[in-house]
Amino acid sequence: MKLVLATSNKGKVREIKAMCEDFEVIPYTQLIDEFEIIEDAHTFKDNALLKAHAVFNALNDDSVIVLADDSGISVEALGGAPGIYSARYGGENASDKDNLHTLMKNIKATGATSSPAFYTAAMAIVTKDSERTVHGWMYGTALTQAQGEGGFGYDPMFVPLGYDKTLGELDDETKKKLSHRSKALSLARKVLKSL
Ligand code: IMP
Repeated sequence: MKLVLATSNKGKVREIKAMCEDFEVIPYTQLIDEFEIIEDAHTFKDNALLKAHAVFNALNDDSVIVLADDSGISVEALGGAPGIYSARYGGENASDKDNLHTLMKNIKATGATSSPAFYTAAMAIVTKDSERTVHGWMYGTALTQAQGEGGFGYDPMFVPLGYDKTLGELDDETKKKLSHRSKALSLARKVLKSL
């Protein structure tokens, strides 16, 4: 089954490919030029739907199945921020590193050295005549110091519950067992198999 991903984020593409080896996973940018999708919905779920529909419509091919992921990190010490704004927390055009450093700086500014936090992943699966959404979460602690180079995004500052290392230090296989994206994807796979 051919599955078109509504993302060009290399970290997400790598993780989704590794978890969907029985599907032909293709980032949409291999089929058409990348275009800007304004993610102006108010929930992870609605942003995922918005991305999936935008890519489905742009592909102009009724036979495709499009999967979109909208994800982010929510930090208790910051009242749940950055949440749906995780991708642009360090400002417009901020890199993953800018976002990471902004988040660590803002937690430090509250006087805390760490805070409970969680990642959310919402996934939308859109076909010619259906749309479905699923979610996954991963709980843990956000640190104010980056440790390790693995993963992507905020991983070097996030210690999953039950571990004493960040996702930047743990290997890909460990993240695959725990992550918000794996949990959402295992539900998404059930939806995909039922199509
Ligand atoms: P999106 O592309 O709008 O879903 O942006 C998600 C944001 O959350 C990006 O800044 C990502 O780097 C970050 N993010 C999402 N999932 C993860 C993850 O598994 N690890 C680290 N950062 C993540």
